[in-house]
Amino acid sequence: MRRKTRTVYAGKIQIGGKAPVSLQSMTKTDTRDASATIIQIKELEKAGCEIVRVAVPDEAAALAIKQIKKGIKIPLVADIHFNYKLALLAIDAGADKIRINPGNIGEEWKVKEILSAAKSAGIAIRIGLNAGSIEKFNEKKRREAASVMALKMVNKAKEYIRFFEKNKFREIVISLKASDTMTTVDSYRLMAKNCDYPFHIGITEAGTALTGTVKSAVGLGILLNEGLGDTLRVSLAALPVEEIRVGREILKTLGLRKNESDLVVCPTCGRCEVKLFPMAELIEKEMLKLKKPAKIAVMGCVVNGPGEAKDADLGIAGGKGSGLIFKNGRILKKVPEKQLLKEFLKELKKLG
Ligand code: SF4
Repeated sequence: MRRKTRTVYAGKIQIGGKAPVSLQSMTKTDTRDASATIIQIKELEKAGCEIVRVAVPDEAAALAIKQIKKGIKIPLVADIHFNYKLALLAIDAGADKIRINPGNIGEEWKVKEILSAAKSAGIAIRIGLNAGSIEKFNEKKRREAASVMALKMVNKAKEYIRFFEKNKFREIVISLKASDTMTTVDSYRLMAKNCDYPFHIGITEAGTALTGTVKSAVGLGILLNEGLGDTLRVSLAALPVEEIRVGREILKTLGLRKNESDLVVCPTCGRCEVKLFPMAELIEKEMLKLKKPAKIAVMGCVVNGPGEAKDADLGIAGGKGSGLIFKNGRILKKVPEKQLLKEFLKELKKLG
């Protein structure tokens, strides 16, 4: 069962409460380059990103938020480190939410200034703790169990929450990220027993497209399956659009995104008679245009393909010389190999 949380907003997107788990990503452009950042955010919007975060390393980046906001549709989160003035500028420029680690902002009065500005603007703040920011570890401590590190993170987060609440600020989202998957899982599990603020979940510095995807799928999969997590970001050393694709697949796999299409692709074997992988990649992209969710199958041979994927709404099975297009478990047509993909894409379009 999903954990009961308070409700917080990033622009129009609800985080927590009964809202579906939202998908986030972070731009990898220089935020000061508003045009490049807008282009990247538009690509993210197209891919299904619901909230975008931008790094705000200096004043020019904070000021660029104003222009960026004009070119995008989804809510923008400003990621601030160290300098409270940047948070104030970002809020002033129209950020829909900010992310800070109060520990690196410095004196309490600076954090108070941020709370007061966020309150006036009516926006939420994510208290974003990373394992690396807790304290410097010596080699011996580094080997401490994940649960010990989790306890340290949770205690720190509770300290910040108390400070926010003392200042009557409750529009809070919490994140407790570590690059170690099980430390992250333990931290959120423990935090869930200590507060009802919504969680932004993610594995930080997860890795390349492969390692990051596996770590995120395992870590976020465990958490979401336990009902923990209200918004998520998959961190990958890859294009941000890939983060959204992976995040969406995680949610779909857990049944948390029911209104999305599903792609079934056979792994291929010695019976495969076509170049299946590029075909599947192309079909996956085309599926993004579907307005109604559908189950699509891309299979490598006509012998077993249609049978193995008979529950698909529409399928394609490659074959030497000619292939098959099948619909709802029945063969729709046999098509010469050269026209097979083109014909299939026409049928896909017809699904709406
Ligand atoms: S559909 Fe055909 S090519 Fe694909 S795995 Fe099954 S038998 Fe092999």
